Amino acid sequence: MLDSLPVGATALLAFFLALRAGPIPVTTTPKPSPAKAPAPAVPYDGMAVAPDIKERLLQFPRTKLDYDRSLLDPADGRTLLKLIDASRILDSIYFTQVSEDNPKVRVSILRTVNSQPAALDVFRYFSIMKGPWDRLKGDEPFLGTKRKPPGAGFYPADMTKEEFEKWVAAHPEDKKSFESLTTVIRREAGRLNAIPYSTYYGTLLKKVSERVKEAGELTKNASLKKYLSLLSAALLSNDYFQSDMAWMDLDSEIEVILGPYEVYEDNLFNFKAAFESFVSIRDKAESAKLSVYAAHLPDMEKNLPIPEAHKNFNRKFESPIRVVQEVYTAGDARQGVQTSAFNLPNDEKVREAKGSKKVLLKNVMEAKFRLSGQPIAERVLEPAAKGKISFDAYFNHTLFHELSHGLGPGIITSPEGQKVEGRLLLKNLYSTIEECKADVVGLWNILYAMDQKLLTGFDEDSLYATYAGLMFRSMRFGVDEAHGGGTAVQWNWCREKKAIEPAAGGRFRANASKFRDAIRSLSTELLEIEATGDYERARKLLDRYGKATPEIRATIARLTGIPVDLEPVFTAAGEK
Ligand code: ZN
Repeated sequence: MLDSLPVGATALLAFFLALRAGPIPVTTTPKPSPAKAPAPAVPYDGMAVAPDIKERLLQFPRTKLDYDRSLLDPADGRTLLKLIDASRILDSIYFTQVSEDNPKVRVSILRTVNSQPAALDVFRYFSIMKGPWDRLKGDEPFLGTKRKPPGAGFYPADMTKEEFEKWVAAHPEDKKSFESLTTVIRREAGRLNAIPYSTYYGTLLKKVSERVKEAGELTKNASLKKYLSLLSAALLSNDYFQSDMAWMDLDSEIEVILGPYEVYEDNLFNFKAAFESFVSIRDKAESAKLSVYAAHLPDMEKNLPIPEAHKNFNRKFESPIRVVQEVYTAGDARQGVQTSAFNLPNDEKVREAKGSKKVLLKNVMEAKFRLSGQPIAERVLEPAAKGKISFDAYFNHTLFHELSHGLGPGIITSPEGQKVEGRLLLKNLYSTIEECKADVVGLWNILYAMDQKLLTGFDEDSLYATYAGLMFRSMRFGVDEAHGGGTAVQWNWCREKKAIEPAAGGRFRANASKFRDAIRSLSTELLEIEATGDYERARKLLDRYGKATPEIRATIARLTGIPVDLEPVFTAAGEK
């Protein structure tokens, strides 16, 4: 059938749109097809395109992700499709959370495709980045010249930090709604207003809520039914406490979470949560194996290299681990570099009550390791390290990274003596510090698990080589991003402590005799920052270590040709 398509821009576009049902915002009222729109007189409405757009696209090979269909009964098969449907709508909300100009820019690109088939490259990159800014280049525009507002689409584009802080200082009664995870800030007649997501994105959120409700009616699994019913209500009330609690209790073949969670998109304050969705199928055998580690979380908290007073035993360590096959993602979970594992919910009240759940997306991890992880490590390290780079070590570091998000300080006592989430005191630096902590404390806990003979699949040499080599997978994403900045801290710290040393030809080797001490001292630093909510100390650490040094830049430059990540193609959603 594809062979019979006439060759032309319009057909190409229609073909392309049919293939990419995923990231294209869904509208329920029929609109004129962009393919029929007249070609614009000026391509992209005059916005310039980065000349290397083709090369940028090659960084993300399209990669099929699928799941084992025999794992689901027919009712859950239909539940899954409803959840994919709900996720698509959520994706279009996220699209405007990134920038309210996004729909307009997308139309400019689609109209250009009519006269220039090469514009499909721009369209694809725009879809991957969820906007005209390159997430691999510190949000530099690849289309047009407009800078991305640090507060994305959550605040008025021209609002400064000072304006926000001044408003809250003058209107203390607004503090809670202004700093809320689930409000947008808008300016009207000179005054700032906080508008709840359920109002601001009301029309689309109602549709998401309906689909979620229908999905809950289809499944026979009681825990999934309960979660989806509470989630359907939460989407309309902005209160995700009950649905988050139910998500923690979810015991189902379908592992799904959908809602406003991560705050990385809000680079102004890290207050506002971006919508995202993960739809996946549980890998039972792997989950059982890994839950053994969860049973040792209290021992790991005890073993943290910080004073007793800073250890956090209030969490109940009810921290299930799931290993899943990713079926579909949307919103913040489907932009730029794909997530290979996540740890939710973020709500400290839920975490104090029930811990947090770690979900490892094993089919994503395997694809990433094969496409980029292994080739990068082999190019960064001396040739003798080649046999030491192990998927098992990589997989477990990701697992322990997620475990470690649930360890360490959470609600702390502020300098004024109030109980407060440490996150709020560390403000815009929190995400970088927390990601860095999860990496480093993750490694510290792997060493603990190895000492306890809980983990035996690889040795310390293999762990250090894999960790050191694969750091460049994160740093290629740019050190401005939460994960990348945290990784630069780790690399530079390990270099200073001589845990990583230069080798011939601009390569490096891990020095096992120094590694453990380097990991211990950096763990202490990060955990103490979180225990005290010390913003200045966090800033000093990031200023000194969280930078791309000439050595880091030179090493990154040697990684050309290796894919940075992948662009998922979800077979279950009909993508090809
Ligand atoms: Zn993390």
